[in-house]
Amino acid sequence: MTKVTTEIAVIGGGVIGLATALRLRAEGRDVAVIEPNEPGSGASYGNAGTVADYAIIPVGTPSVLKNLASLLLDTDSPLAIRKTALPTLFPWLMRFAYESLPHRYRDNASRIADLVSDASSEWLDLAAEIGASDLLSAALVDAARRNGCVFLQAAATEITRRRGSVQIAAAPFDIDAKSVVIAAGAHSGKFATQVEDPVRLDTERGYHLEFDMAQLPIERPVCPTHHGFYFCPMNGRLRIAGTVELGGLAAPSNPRRLQVLLTNARRISPSRADPGWASAPRCLIPFRSSARQEAATTSSSPLGTVISGSPSRHARLAWSAISSRPALGCRGRRVDR
Ligand SMILES: Cc1cc2nc3c(=O)[nH]c(=O)nc-3n(C[C@H](O)[C@H](O)[C@H](O)COP(=O)(O)OP(=O)(O)OC[C@H]3O[C@@H](n4cnc5c(N)ncnc54)[C@H](O)[C@@H]3O)c2cc1C
Repeated sequence: MTKVTTEIAVIGGGVIGLATALRLRAEGRDVAVIEPNEPGSGASYGNAGTVADYAIIPVGTPSVLKNLASLLLDTDSPLAIRKTALPTLFPWLMRFAYESLPHRYRDNASRIADLVSDASSEWLDLAAEIGASDLLSAALVDAARRNGCVFLQAAATEITRRRGSVQIAAAPFDIDAKSVVIAAGAHSGKFATQVEDPVRLDTERGYHLEFDMAQLPIERPVCPTHHGFYFCPMNGRLRIAGTVELGGLAAPSNPRRLQVLLTNARRISPSRADPGWASAPRCLIPFRSSARQEAATTSSSPLGTVISGSPSRHARLAWSAISSRPALGCRGRRVDR
């Protein structure tokens, strides 16, 4: 094992971990980002690319609750569940149902609104700061490297508190840090449990398809809301991204969901008149498809957790929820236990 000592270890190199690492570097902290894959290649790569500061209505609403059974069992709906995952998901679904009740849903919507109110301006500021003209996650990786963040290619497996420090096992590294930031997206649940800060976290999977086109039919993201996906121009290609599938972390991706995405997209294509994409296969090839996992919480709970190594057992939760702001702990909450 290679011993690494750092002030702050960030577990996960998606947009949340990278933006957090950058902000910490700007404060002069020593930061090591632990990431087993290409940084920025998780949900931060596969998404629809919108800074969704308008998206304050949680997935769980009274109307979703009313139609939950049919929604979940209809494999073509924007929200689907794998039947095999039902037993494992049951506790999460129970909480989801509760959080969809009128009073909870209103409270959750107002919390999300509070979280994302200045997300656009903050992301724009950060993008300007790092000179990001195009893909934000790629620019974040470059900026983090340029600004002296250390990248450790490894998967963290265990966090242990010690007196005044935190130990992170991430073979081949044994990392000693004063603090750790948990920003492993859909994989954050087990780490939160290890630091005795369990959140009812499960994963939702979204899918995307991308098409080469002679001319893109749209200049900005367009969302037919009832289908739960976006059309978006992405790096010179048309991306169709979205829908929610509940099925756990380990399930393989489901080609049928991609087919549903394609069928619905064709049905309401903004370029319906353009035979290029709506019917002729020539423009549908080559295409890329992918399924990315993202964290789903039942009550807009935190995705980033900062645990200080102090044995005083004070934990600070950095509320960096989906689509929220880039900085660390903007709405930090202190939990004394
Ligand atoms: C199809 C789809 C469309 C979406 N559209 C939008 C949108 O338009 N707008 C929007 O705001 N949001 C959207 N989202 C959500 C958004 O992509 C995510 O909220 C965001 O990317 C989460 O970033 P993250 O850094 O938390 O997670 P990720 O990008 O998933 O990063 C987590 C990282 O942690 C790493 N990791 C996992 N396990 C470990 C471990 N054990 N040790 C170390 N590292 C580990 C992973 O490899 C990964 O790189 C979409 C999501 C999907 C799936």
